[in-house]
Amino acid sequence: MSRIQSLAPDLILIDTHYRETPRAIGSYLLLGEHPALIESGPASTLENLLEGVRQAGVDPRDLRAVAVTHIHLDHAGAAGSLARMFPHLEVYVHPVGASHLIDPARLVASSRRTFGEVFDAWFGEVVPVPAERVHVLHDGAQITLGSRRLTALDTPGHARHHLAYFDEASGDVFTGDVTGVAVSGVRHVRVPTTPPEFDPGAWRASIARLRALGLRRLLPTHFGPHTWIDSLLRQLEEGLDQMVEMGRESADLDAATLAARLKEASLVELTRVGHPEALTTYEVIVGSDLSAQGLLRFVTKEREREA
Ligand SMILES: [Zn+2]
Repeated sequence: MSRIQSLAPDLILIDTHYRETPRAIGSYLLLGEHPALIESGPASTLENLLEGVRQAGVDPRDLRAVAVTHIHLDHAGAAGSLARMFPHLEVYVHPVGASHLIDPARLVASSRRTFGEVFDAWFGEVVPVPAERVHVLHDGAQITLGSRRLTALDTPGHARHHLAYFDEASGDVFTGDVTGVAVSGVRHVRVPTTPPEFDPGAWRASIARLRALGLRRLLPTHFGPHTWIDSLLRQLEEGLDQMVEMGRESADLDAATLAARLKEASLVELTRVGHPEALTTYEVIVGSDLSAQGLLRFVTKEREREA
């Protein structure tokens, strides 16, 4: 099952229904002579993605490119499967992420350790992308996807190898996870402090950089679109500070206890904005257990640096 939403005459949002959940993971289809995707989603929802492409009137065999914001499997897990199915499809990625698309063994092993027995059901099979079809985008690189000319922006914080794609002509920016998790219609931003590279300092700098661009619309992977840009980014910054503070206060706790605290805090916020029922969706997108692991890893490293 998938559901598509037109965001502009040349831009379609495909809801991949990750874990049967609407508005959890989106993929953006850019229309034009050479249709392209931003984010492949995980391999587990590949069929839903392709169904969405067809619903948009595009033959999936015409797809020429998939650009990923980062290589976490909920964003790029199906890139290899797409490359295998469609020989003309090229893959674009941050320089630090490229080697993991070409040889995903280490990424898969560490994700299996993180996620445990649900790994296969949630992410599916991770297939390598042939090296000659992986193209790196350095900060400021220009790329044409569909009919849009986009600029790749190095935007670390959630991950070191993270790009946002900025369309100066429209003011749209495809933000991956750097603008956090905010389900359309719900004015609550969750900060995905996913291990192993959560870096609040780098993240604040990335937010400041995005803010200076004169954005008109945020298109995050989980789950756009959003036009309440100023308050979303402010909430994201406040959320970052709160997460770091809770992490520091909880540095001697186990991950499960911290996860319960994070989940409770999230429910309080969701209730305040009138959407307590959205907690389930937020937990599907980035579980509090995952955020707790990443946060504890960050505060442990921080203590080691200070010692
Ligand atoms: Zn994500």
